[in-house]
Amino acid sequence: MTGALHYGDETFLYDVTINPFLCKKVRIHVHPNSHIEVEVPEECSLAELNQAIRKRARWIAKQLEAVRQVRAHTLPREYVSGETHFYIGRRFQLCVTESKEMPSNVKLHAGRIEVITRSTDPASVRRRLNDWYKAKSADYFQRRLELVTGNISWLERTPPFKLVPMKKQWGSCSPSGVIHLNPWLIRAPVDCIDYVITHELCHLREHNHSKKYYELLQRHHPNWQHVKAKIDGMAELLLAA
Ligand SMILES: [Zn+2]
Repeated sequence: MTGALHYGDETFLYDVTINPFLCKKVRIHVHPNSHIEVEVPEECSLAELNQAIRKRARWIAKQLEAVRQVRAHTLPREYVSGETHFYIGRRFQLCVTESKEMPSNVKLHAGRIEVITRSTDPASVRRRLNDWYKAKSADYFQRRLELVTGNISWLERTPPFKLVPMKKQWGSCSPSGVIHLNPWLIRAPVDCIDYVITHELCHLREHNHSKKYYELLQRHHPNWQHVKAKIDGMAELLLAA
């Protein structure tokens, strides 16, 4: 469910998610990408929800302003040597080498991501790097998926997955049971990768975000709320490419 809050001459849109494990009435998050998420317990009425949001309107406006300030200082990626890029939760320095003789290649070496390319044009470096991320994630996600599946007794075999680049989501699970994982998830720490995989695997049994779904998730990943908050906080940084 999506709602709108009018504050001064601004309108903020927010998404409401039901969290059956919430002890207090309403929890509001302003994510680093300006996305406003409102978590409510199952029994929360619309009137209670509206009241809680109105009460915190000033706080939300302040958070959004802080987010805008931070973003103003985040430079877009340039794909040049010295720039920081992420791989399985670690920062690596990019090292771009132009060569007409050596075959184009990307590899991890001495704590750096080395790109050998015929053209140092940012678009072509970006393409090489993204192809490398995709190849690495295909391999790495397969291994993590096998590991996580092994801990879920009701799954008989590792389900197949597809890599699907997405701008705002780490994964999804189609009604027919196909798991999609965002290849850019390979930039996140391994606990975050495992959390996203667990989240999608649980959808094979419970297709929506119902109370039963969250009970299942809680059972297979007791620490999920903590890890979710961690990856939500990093999303803008990791998806900026
Ligand atoms: Zn989900």
